Amino acid sequence: MMRKRLENKVVVITGATQGIGKGIALMCAEEGATVIVNGKNETDGVAVVRHIEEQYGTEAMFVQADISSEAACAQLIDSAVRRFGRIDGLVNNAGIFPRGSMINTTEALFDSIFAVNIKGAFFCSMYAIQAMQKAEGGSIVQIGSTNGYKGNKELAAYSCSKGAMLTLNRHIAAHYGRDRIRSNWITVGWVASEGEIELHENLGISEDELRKRGESYVPSGRLQTPEDIAYGTVYLLSDESSQVTGTELHINGGIGL
Ligand code: NAD
Repeated sequence: MMRKRLENKVVVITGATQGIGKGIALMCAEEGATVIVNGKNETDGVAVVRHIEEQYGTEAMFVQADISSEAACAQLIDSAVRRFGRIDGLVNNAGIFPRGSMINTTEALFDSIFAVNIKGAFFCSMYAIQAMQKAEGGSIVQIGSTNGYKGNKELAAYSCSKGAMLTLNRHIAAHYGRDRIRSNWITVGWVASEGEIELHENLGISEDELRKRGESYVPSGRLQTPEDIAYGTVYLLSDESSQVTGTELHINGGIGL
């Protein structure tokens, strides 16, 4: 039988109770990984764990934590290491994307976006790196966005938070390679996740209309799916990419080219 691509790997995924993170968690489990599912919603998190155990037979654990504080990031990585002995992978996926231009972003909105999208990713990486240094290294995947390079006019603080994540990616890759720790970023295009659907519904745009807009906006002719993002993530977490670090993998159907 062919070896699964993430066999014997312990992987922490932030924000994995729904959307892209959930898609990544399920595919990691399908590829043999032990998965630590983080998120804020306990019912959804426990459901993802049960799905993994029943469908794929691998181990999984839900850790309820709001990663916008350093203490929660420490607790997340620590619970994983205490239960499974080490971690081999971290996917910094948790993120929020409320609208706000340069002109109308309040300080509170700015702080809330930065607290999750970059502070959370920074501190989860910090504790993961320390755990990986004690083991055999590891792989970190940063779930980025096409907005990280310049950004949609209505997503000013969000775009800046993802730009900082791009720097975090290169920083880790440049300085922790000798510890056999890799970091890579995925440029996500546009995914009709639960969060994206809800945001559009609040703006009076239905899911159908969202998908239609995606068909005309995205050069490939459709929105991406959580699975499109998960394929790349599994590759970057696996030993197939052991010589790949500091890169930006665009999974965006050609947006921005
Ligand atoms: P989503 O809202 O459907 O899911 C986000 C997940 O993050 C949820 O599980 C949520 O509970 C979790 N989360 C939010 N704040 C958290 C916190 N403080 N602590 C712990 N978990 C928290 O969104 P999604 O579209 O699946 O987004 C996932 C990632 O992909 C985000 O980083 C987002 O910026 C990025 N992304 C999404 C798109 C898109 O089109 N959907 C495009 C580019 C990038």
